[in-house]
Parts: sequence; structure tokens; C-alpha cells
Amino acid sequence: MSYSCPHFDIARDYCLRLKTDCVPGRPGCVLTGSQFAVPAKERVQQTKEEKKERKARELLNQDNPRAEI
Ligand code: SF4
Repeated sequence: MSYSCPHFDIARDYCLRLKTDCVPGRPGCVLTGSQFAVPAKERVQQTKEEKKERKARELLNQDNPRAEI
């Protein structure tokens, strides 16, 4: 099954409704209460960690543009 959410900003991978990352099923999402293989709480945490790692990599690359991480 696929789902197209009217609140999803595909260009920014962002939820316009919640003004944060799109994680289907997270609190406030139109899909809250739906069944997911991986619980929303776990995916929210995972998204936060990925974002943190991405920022850290960007900072490192700013300090040393030739470094590949
Ligand atoms: S978090 Fe939910 S409401 Fe927001 S864009 Fe994603 S699916 Fe839509």
C-alpha cells in the first residue's frame, strides 16, 4: 500500500502540518494510530540521530572540505 500525504513537502522531506521531519504515525500526524512495522517513536528517534550525524558530517566537511567521511 502507498500513501500520499497532502502535508508532505517532498522537496524538503518535511511535514508542513507539524513543521518537523515527516515520520508517518508520529504524534500529531494524520496517520497516528495506524499500524507500522516499526513503531513511530522508534523512527522519530532514528530520524533525530540521522539528522545529528548529518550535521556533524557537514561541520567536519566545512572544517576540512577535502575530508571524506
Ligand atoms: S508526518 Fe504525517 S502528517 Fe506529516 S507529512 Fe508525514 S505523513 Fe503527513
